[in-house]
Amino acid sequence: MSERKGRFGEHGGQYMPETLMNAVIELEEAYEKWKNDPVFVKELEDLFRDYAGRPSLLTLAEKMTRDLGGAKIYLKREDLNHTGSHKINNVLGQALLAKKMGKTRLIAETGAGQHGVATATAAALLDMECVVFMGEEDTIRQALNVYRMRLLGAEVIPVKTGTKTLKDAVSEAMREWTSRISDTHYCLGSVMGPHPFPTIVRDFQAVISKEMKAQILEKEGRLPDAVIACVGGGSNAMGSFANFIEDTSVRLIGCEAAGRGIDTFETAATINTGRSGIFHGMKSYFCQDEYGQIAPVYSISAGLDYPGIGPEHAYLHDIGRAEYVPVTDEEAVQAFEYLSKTEGIIPAIESAHAVSKAMELAPKMAKDRIIIVTISGRGDKDCAAIARYRGEDLHE
Ligand SMILES: *Cc1c(COP(=O)(O)O)cnc(C)c1O
Repeated sequence: MSERKGRFGEHGGQYMPETLMNAVIELEEAYEKWKNDPVFVKELEDLFRDYAGRPSLLTLAEKMTRDLGGAKIYLKREDLNHTGSHKINNVLGQALLAKKMGKTRLIAETGAGQHGVATATAAALLDMECVVFMGEEDTIRQALNVYRMRLLGAEVIPVKTGTKTLKDAVSEAMREWTSRISDTHYCLGSVMGPHPFPTIVRDFQAVISKEMKAQILEKEGRLPDAVIACVGGGSNAMGSFANFIEDTSVRLIGCEAAGRGIDTFETAATINTGRSGIFHGMKSYFCQDEYGQIAPVYSISAGLDYPGIGPEHAYLHDIGRAEYVPVTDEEAVQAFEYLSKTEGIIPAIESAHAVSKAMELAPKMAKDRIIIVTISGRGDKDCAAIARYRGEDLHE
């Protein structure tokens, strides 16, 4: 892939204030030094196996396959990881790298709280200080995750600027990093931001498709015909795609949150409704208003509620290697309920966006075809919100 100077085609790059350049250069050099170091690789593999619970299972969704009557469907079970999602893969990698760099403090942004909880978890395990920035609005909506982060020993700072949500938390974490780079690593939560973050996060999440490939070859003796994953910033999707990019027979499908529909203003489908721009240190596609300002975004799923998309996805879209499709709240909720009843697996509402696309695609494919859907997380956290969506008032 064209990755010179952190570019993916025209996307990516490092659009940073001068004060942060030293920090990203230091990080880039450290990553180049450690990424193939046998001790680092071994320590990370040990953490993946003995702490996160990897490899995650590849489960044949037998009833779902039979019910839909087409392609055979497998589920990559990132929901079974410690802390309940794929986020732990990236966080363990970055926390270990930060330790090697001599850093003693992790800062992170979080929206729904999943990345904050994963970062607080890694900090507790590796004996590091942890500060999490979270939009004030989100601290109220996700009070339980705020409690979990504090229980794990992290400090949670409510961000009161802008719309008081995820994008403001990212901006605040970047500001904090500028003012304190000597002992602090910014543990960014997705394949976004300035180079080298999109590359680092992809590499740590690529364990998903590395395992997927080995597991499907063992079970079926061949590659899948399609890999489907949901896309917020795009880390679980990039991790699911990475080891299949060269295998052009494999369709790569990213599912964006359409919210109430891509023809409404209440959407977070960046590729389908956004335009090229520069924000949060990178060039990519962003949801923007008529003046080029970052538009407010909406999805029932807090984890997909980001106005941008990682630069490598923007590039895969440009060259036609991956497809990005919108999935509405209603479609995701139906898939959430369907997978729960059919397979006994309650997926995160984010992951349900990918399940929905598989439900549409499988019946149109022959029975000897294979689809793998990444279940990026478990859905316990979403039950109260989905109940509310269905008009039931459930107290958490
Ligand atoms: C955070 C999150 C996402 C969205 O983030 P990506 O970087 O796009 O993967 C998706 N699913 C779950 C369960 C999450 O917690």
